[in-house]
Amino acid sequence: MADDSMFLDESDRYSRLRLISWWEQEKIAGARIMVAGAGALGNEVLKNLALLGVGRVFLLDFDDVENSNLSRSVLFRVDDEGQPKADCAARGLRDINGEIRVEARKANVMTDIGLGIFREMNLVIGCLDNREARLWLNRSCWKVNVPWVDGGIQEIAGVVKVFMPPGGSCYECTMTEADYRLINLRYSCPLLRREDLLQGKVPTAPTIASVIAGLQTQEALKLLHGMDDFAGKGMVFSGMGNNFYTTAFPRKEDCLSHETYPDVQGLPLSAKDTSAESLFEAAAPHFKTESSAPIKLVLDRDLLLHLSCQACDLHRQINRPLMTVSQKEGVCTGCGEDMITSITNEIRQDSETAKLTLAEAGIPPYDILRVTRGDESCFFCLEEDRATALGEVL
Ligand SMILES: [Zn+2]
Ligand SMILES: [Zn+2]
Repeated sequence: MADDSMFLDESDRYSRLRLISWWEQEKIAGARIMVAGAGALGNEVLKNLALLGVGRVFLLDFDDVENSNLSRSVLFRVDDEGQPKADCAARGLRDINGEIRVEARKANVMTDIGLGIFREMNLVIGCLDNREARLWLNRSCWKVNVPWVDGGIQEIAGVVKVFMPPGGSCYECTMTEADYRLINLRYSCPLLRREDLLQGKVPTAPTIASVIAGLQTQEALKLLHGMDDFAGKGMVFSGMGNNFYTTAFPRKEDCLSHETYPDVQGLPLSAKDTSAESLFEAAAPHFKTESSAPIKLVLDRDLLLHLSCQACDLHRQINRPLMTVSQKEGVCTGCGEDMITSITNEIRQDSETAKLTLAEAGIPPYDILRVTRGDESCFFCLEEDRATALGEVL
């Protein structure tokens, strides 16, 4: 038998990986991957991506490191307490592999990450702890046609699901009535977010995090190599009985997540500096059909314009996505009752709200916007935000 070392470049840290029959390190080095969530699962996935030499990693998490994270998070250190998880995880990745480019965001996947960012990813790995954020990730990936790998853990059991738009089943196709009920539980009557529910306090161990994250990363690797046999399927592992099985999810034809945007056109605009009015001006020449109907911006996130209490004659301008407003904020400081909400899901050309900037209308940087006139829809990407939105992973 030949001595392997004769053919191996020992200075190449990936030399053993290259020996895997189907392996193409260049594909991995050339990949751009988003990891949503840097908790127990996210830490393990991110660690794997750094070991593998994934060229560009965009990672996000909304939370700060807490003491209880230290038992399940390989990238965090004692001194990280109180620091953003995203930044600490990014530092951990750079320590493991200085060759990779990492962009970290302390951000909420549902409100802060523009679709333009999603569109530039080869794939997205979901390491989230709630269904609502998964559903959002799913719809975002579908809109821009990017595959994603979902992972979930509880105690010492877990599940991995692979989704590949536009065909096959998606995350929402796998949702049950009970899943929808759990999502709705998070909102109280006037739709403002309830803060009193335990969030992200799922009991888990680092062992199951590494098992499931390992499987997620492996599926991601296969997708990068063009192996998509597992799309629309899931793997379920129970650590108590060591039961492992795979399952195929049927596609629901009436599923609400299956929209994929057609042609997306770039406009040299940014979310922060562009009013809806100027967007409409820039968009107008792109419509192909004649119509006297007003141009409208259709919002992906319902916008809370203001809160008011008639009894106390109080009126508060809010201009934030409804999903970022807590129930507490919706209580009148005068009488303690819930205030009346004024909510919109579109901005019309001739309205007062058209004076708002896109950022004030709850649109994140480098987002892709749906603008309609009559029956025609056009899709525009806010190109001016690209460099800052992608940062290191540009
Ligand atoms: Zn679906
Ligand atoms: Zn009041």
